[in-house]
Amino acid sequence: MSYNLASQVYMDLYPVLARKIKYTIIRANNEGLPIDLFCGGRSWEMQQKEYEKGRELKEGIWTISDLHRVVTNAQPGDSWHNYFVAGDFAFKDEHDDWTWDIPTKYWHRVAEIAKEVGLEWGLELFGAKLSDYPHFQYTKGLRIWQAKGIVKADGLKALWDTIEKEEVV
Ligand SMILES: [Zn+2]
Repeated sequence: MSYNLASQVYMDLYPVLARKIKYTIIRANNEGLPIDLFCGGRSWEMQQKEYEKGRELKEGIWTISDLHRVVTNAQPGDSWHNYFVAGDFAFKDEHDDWTWDIPTKYWHRVAEIAKEVGLEWGLELFGAKLSDYPHFQYTKGLRIWQAKGIVKADGLKALWDTIEKEEVV
């Protein structure tokens, strides 16, 4: 188990978030929880591709055609991954393959560590869908519509600066 800060998955992530993720991984690994960062930031084009999984266009509306293949309900701009302030962890099995098939208590322990450094947990933000266990973000309680407005007006760096200055809520 090792993480690699130069690896693709950390690319373009908000550096403060990247450090908090790295800290969480090291702490968890030291406790015998073999997690690593599975997914980091996503461009709006990538988000669209993710959104289309399990959906098909019917009369101009994206409609779910295969629920098991759906990976996100967020359209481009509606996911914190699109602002590079979110990451999804996954566990590694004994063959070093990714796995999400682990008891939820281990996710709770990862979340305890992550929350110590101010990360916000998908399970607590979005509810108890299994897909939200791996998701962590660093927004200090900003809303996605606020993020969208800031980025539209002043760019991504302005959003990161806002998060940095924001009081923890
Ligand atoms: Zn996520």
